[in-house]
Formats: sequence, C-alpha cells, structure tokens
Amino acid sequence: AYNRVLEIHKQHLSPVLTAYFSEPLLLHQGHMEWLFDYEGNRYLDFFSGIVTVSVGHCHPKVNAVAQKQLGRLWHTSAVFFHPPIHEYAEKLSALLPEPVIFLMNSGSEANDLAMLMARAHSNNTDIISFRGAYHGCSPYTLGLTNVGFYKMELPSGMGCQSTMCPDVFCGPWGGSHCRDSPVQTIRKCSCAPDCCQAKDQYIEQFKDTLNTSVASIAGFFAEPIQGVNGVVQYPKGFLKEAFELVRERGGVCIADEVQTGFGRLGSHFWGFQTHGVLPDIVTMAKGIGNGFPMAAVVTTPEIAKSLAKRLLHFNTFGGNPMACAVGSSVLEVIKEENLQENSQEVGTYMLLKFAKLRDEFEIVGDVRGKGLMIGIEMVKDKTSRQPLPREEVNQIHQDCKRMGLLIGRGGTFSQTFRIAPSMCITKPEVDFAVEVFRSAVIQHME
Ligand code: PMP
Repeated sequence: AYNRVLEIHKQHLSPVLTAYFSEPLLLHQGHMEWLFDYEGNRYLDFFSGIVTVSVGHCHPKVNAVAQKQLGRLWHTSAVFFHPPIHEYAEKLSALLPEPVIFLMNSGSEANDLAMLMARAHSNNTDIISFRGAYHGCSPYTLGLTNVGFYKMELPSGMGCQSTMCPDVFCGPWGGSHCRDSPVQTIRKCSCAPDCCQAKDQYIEQFKDTLNTSVASIAGFFAEPIQGVNGVVQYPKGFLKEAFELVRERGGVCIADEVQTGFGRLGSHFWGFQTHGVLPDIVTMAKGIGNGFPMAAVVTTPEIAKSLAKRLLHFNTFGGNPMACAVGSSVLEVIKEENLQENSQEVGTYMLLKFAKLRDEFEIVGDVRGKGLMIGIEMVKDKTSRQPLPREEVNQIHQDCKRMGLLIGRGGTFSQTFRIAPSMCITKPEVDFAVEVFRSAVIQHME
C-alpha cells in the first residue's frame, strides 16, 4: 500500500508538493500530541502539523463540537447568518480592542486582504516586509514572502512584485549587507533578544529603506517572531520603533499572527503584545481552527470602513458554520485547559533543556524562541557559523523521525530545526523529545 501511495502521489499530485522526509510518512490517525502511521508506529508531533494543531490532534471536545455541527449545518455561504458565526465573532472580539472581523480560509488569503485594506485606507501603494518573512504563497503574498527557498524572482506579469519596490525588503537578520554571506545569517546572540546590541543599527537601516526605496507606504507586515525563517526574533524595542516610523509616514501596521497567536508564545495571547505594540490589522490562521481550514483578518472600524467604501469584499467559505463552531471550541479549550499557561511553563522548561545541547555540541549553534516556538540552528562549528550542510541536517531530521519524533525545518539554508508542538504538551514529552534529538546529534557526530 505504501508504494502504491507513492506512485499515485508522483503521478497525480503537484510536483511542487515534496514530502518532508526522504522516506515519506503515511499517517493513519492522530490523538492529541501523537500521530500514528499505518504500521502502528507512533510519533510525538513536535511541529503540530505545521504549527497548526494548536490544542491537539482530534481533541475530544473540538471533535464533538465539529460532529454536532456537521449533523446540523455545514454551509450557507457568507450572505446568510447563522449562530456559529456570531458566537465566534463574540469570542474573538473579546480578545482584541474594538475589532472588526473578516473570516477567511487560509493565511495567504488573510494577508492578501490585509494588503488590500492597507492600500484602501492609506491611499498609498507600497507594502513592505522583512527579509526572511513568510506571509503566504498566493501571487500577492509571494511578493512579501522572502525566505530562502520561497524567494524567487517572479517573471514579470506574475504576482504583484512589480507594484512593490523589490528593494524594500529589509530585515534585521538578513539585511542587505549580508545578503550574499551565509555566515552572517547566523546570529551572534541567542535566545535573549535584549542582549542584542544591534537595535539602533537596524532602526537606521529600516529608516534608510523607508526614506530611499519606499515612495508611498501603505502597509508594513511583520511576524512577531519569524517562523519559516527559523524562529527569528527581533531585538527588544525594534518593532515598536519600526511601527512608529511607518505610522509617521501614513502607513498601516500589520501583525501576521498566523504562527504566533492563540497563546503559543505563553506570556501573551498575541505575539504583538510581547513587543508592546498594537497593530492596525492582525491576520491569523493555522492554530485558529486546530487544523480546520480557517483564517481571520481583524482590524479597526476606520480601516474596515475605508475598505467598504472602495470595494465589496466577498468570500464564499469564509465564516462557514463548521469553521466557526470549531474555532469557538478551540478558544474554549485554550481557556478551560489553561493552554496558554502551559505554553509558558512547558515552553520555558523546553528552551532551557534544548539550550543545554548548545553547550554540549559544537554543531548546535543557537537555541532560541519563546513559549512553544523554538528554533535550533545547526552549524558546521561555532567559529565559522556556517550552516550545517543540508544533507547532514536531513540525516538528523530523519533519525529523529525513526526514533519517534517529528520536528520542523526552516531558515534560509534549511539549517534550523523548528519546534512547535500542540499546546497540550507535557514536560515528560519534552524530556523524550530532547533525548531523541540528543541521540540523533550524537549519532551524527560518530
Ligand atoms: N503567514 C505566516 C507567518 C505563515 O507561517 C504562513 C504559513 N506558513 C502563512 C502566512 C500562510 O498561511 P497559509 O499556508 O494558510 O496560506
């Protein structure tokens, strides 16, 4: 059966979709933080899908709510009203000041809409994002996505890059000065962003970009912590100053909470709160529906009005009864099971445990992150800070899988392991994961 699946995949599915492992996993079922393949092997899912399964695979409460709604009403299209959408709107709006909510189906769609809103509200055109950012794969958001293998020069006429200034991508960890130098993409200081001396330098760079390359700024997108880029954090205070500079020039600030929202960072429900900023637009997806396709854009009444004046916005599936019912139960579970607190407690424990491996092994260059969003950057050695070659990272990744641990990858050279389990994770499971990872690194060194 396994070979047959591989054959069908090769024959009929998009060649763009490549499997995460050289021996692809054929999954059968999931229960909370565990996944099971067809041979009955179990895996601790330390990447929760792709930072998506926020409260656990097939969480019993979420499943029960979904099943009940499935038997009642699946779909009406967005022009009809139904209780799940209003219940959800009430619950989500309690988590943000004065919000107006647009419901969508994916992160890319949400960021597309945020881009339109920023332009409609500011009457400007330029949109900027950081080097290393990931904001989606739609033609519009591809112009904002700027990390490693996703960064491609779109042929003219494809996507919307030409409406933005390509040089506006600037970023703290891969600014133009180190674009061609892999060595400098490895950061000097690790998990404590406030030990970074570089904030002022990055602000200068940011100002410079705004002054020289951006004619009329409509919007500025930032992930509170860059996910796909390998869990990259900004220096303390940087985002706050960047927001001020954008607003001074009439632009709108957008926080992409697709990975960082819903309590994953532990100390706060939203990632932007960890920077002491309040964005004009917040986009969210992934964990919002625990894996059920769902996304949202939340903005201020003023920006919502600007959009409404300029165009009708319609989305057939956005806010469908199934997604809204699931979304409500996810919010309830996060609260009832104290999952944000768990992210904080278990995340802090996990960061310290993985950080010990940095002291133990020359090839573990950096361990960083916050709550349940952790990056482990692999290097050839700590002096050169060159990324560990891709095949070697692959080997460690594959060995973890063989020992029952699934983790993610990211970064320009795919050199950073990404760890983002469901928020129901426990300390003994962290102990297991750290031990497996440690064994995989030891095997690699032998
Ligand atoms: N923003 C961020 C921060 C993401 O990580 C992703 C997905 N990796 C997206 C947007 C796009 O989401 P989707 O794949 O649902 O379109």
